[in-house]
Amino acid sequence: MKIVILGNGQLGQMLAQATIRLGHECLLINTRTDQVMPAGAHVPLELSVAEAMQWADVVSWEHEQLDPNHVALAADKLLTDPAKILPLTHRQLEKQLCDDLAIATAPWVAFDTTEQFENALQQWQGKAVIKAASGGYDGKSQWRYDPAAGQKVTDLSATAGKQPGIIEAMIPFHCEVSLVGARAADGRIQCYPLVENVHDRGILSHTFAGLSDFPSHLQQEAETAFCAVTEQLGYVGTLAIEFFVVGQGATAKLLVNEIAPRVHNSGHWTMQGCNVSQFALHVRALTNMPFAPFVVQPSLMVNVIGVDAIPDTLWADAQAAPFWYGKDARPGRKVGHVNFHVSDRQSAEALARTWAPQLQKLA
Ligand code: ATP
Ligand code: MG
Ligand code: MG
Repeated sequence: MKIVILGNGQLGQMLAQATIRLGHECLLINTRTDQVMPAGAHVPLELSVAEAMQWADVVSWEHEQLDPNHVALAADKLLTDPAKILPLTHRQLEKQLCDDLAIATAPWVAFDTTEQFENALQQWQGKAVIKAASGGYDGKSQWRYDPAAGQKVTDLSATAGKQPGIIEAMIPFHCEVSLVGARAADGRIQCYPLVENVHDRGILSHTFAGLSDFPSHLQQEAETAFCAVTEQLGYVGTLAIEFFVVGQGATAKLLVNEIAPRVHNSGHWTMQGCNVSQFALHVRALTNMPFAPFVVQPSLMVNVIGVDAIPDTLWADAQAAPFWYGKDARPGRKVGHVNFHVSDRQSAEALARTWAPQLQKLA
């Protein structure tokens, strides 16, 4: 089939690689410049976006911030209705969707004006995280509130209270996990095992896959949420749900943090750690190809953030699979990742301790 991907960042490029490997054809749209790009090169083609859309059998996206012009041109070639994923681009609507589907999230309240923000925060008990309704990623457009530390509500009015958003309870989680999976055009659903994500200052540092002893009910609970969300949205393709795990053992429970209607950084381990990558799964889902049972190898994924290069020792390491996105480095900007095959949790933690500080410059 002929597939057009909206967005030619690293997620678009990795989707394109999977597309080609499965025998399909692929073009990417640079959504900033409105140019049609081949996979793997930054040389635009002499083809208009409208012509690329005409050429395509299926149109999909690497990020959910869609341009209405592109949506109009893609028309029925988008297998997920873009209007249906709008709630996932707006924190208030996303939280409301979870409430409507009876999926547990952190306690929250919405505000639209600075006055509403101040009133709501005055009445808030305990620590809070304030998140702008739209536009945030990698922990940006978020503020912490801790009244016990002497912070005043009005200290945050000009920043956190400046635009519509939510106030959310700060969750003392045991750990953070995510569920990546896909729903195919014909409704089949397949999810990877839950993986454990470690964040540093709001940005994903590393992921442990196949290395956690989660109580077995958590996978079931996560997949129930996945089915409810994707079926409600009529979603086709790979999607990720981030959760907080609260408590441990038999009483552990999941709270949804956020939902990403696309391939996700916490699924990058699947490129080496599973027989079907999250990118291949997305393409299989779009094109109604068969799903295969997942065979998972214990893996560690470490993000490369804000540094100029991946050291030669890692390129020369047989257990490491480095990916470099070809982007200019800026502090806090994701420029690559490294997948490691590991034998056990202890060695994975040792690798993360060694490499995260060397591969990550956050500020
Ligand atoms: P992403 O890059 O994953 O899209 P984001 O900017 O959309 O990130 P969130 O996922 O909402 O932001 O938050 C980033 C991180 O901040 C979380 O993974 C978690 O570590 C921390 N965090 C966010 N909300 C809360 C909360 N209510 N309680 C505790 N920690 C939180
Ligand atoms: Mg987010
Ligand atoms: Mg997140």
